[in-house]
Amino acid sequence: MTTKLNLKRSIEIKLNRIRVDLASRADFYRHNFKEFTDPSCPCGYQQQTKSHLLLDCPLSNGAREVFTQNLKELPSFNYNNFATLTKASKIKIMLFGDCKLSDECNKEITNLSANFIDKII
Ligand SMILES: [Zn+2]
Repeated sequence: MTTKLNLKRSIEIKLNRIRVDLASRADFYRHNFKEFTDPSCPCGYQQQTKSHLLLDCPLSNGAREVFTQNLKELPSFNYNNFATLTKASKIKIMLFGDCKLSDECNKEITNLSANFIDKII
């Protein structure tokens, strides 16, 4: 466990990779393989992005459904409001929380996001 989030180190590393835009496989392995230039997602989407990975990739649908259900069950979180936000706003809340929410709620959201990310990358 590490930091205040009580995440396993391996999960926190994945969360931080997404936070700093090192989400695509190309970015993960670029330092190891000079000729590795494929920026696509394994699903076939041409350019892997945080938005695609977190919100749209069909390969993540199962894990995303679990994440969404858990988010809906957070007592101090208004999922219906969240669902109306732009993709950029959703991603920001998923990865960094929302200053309008309590620390405890932000911690729960970040934990849910980190566990979702752990399942999809
Ligand atoms: Zn994809």
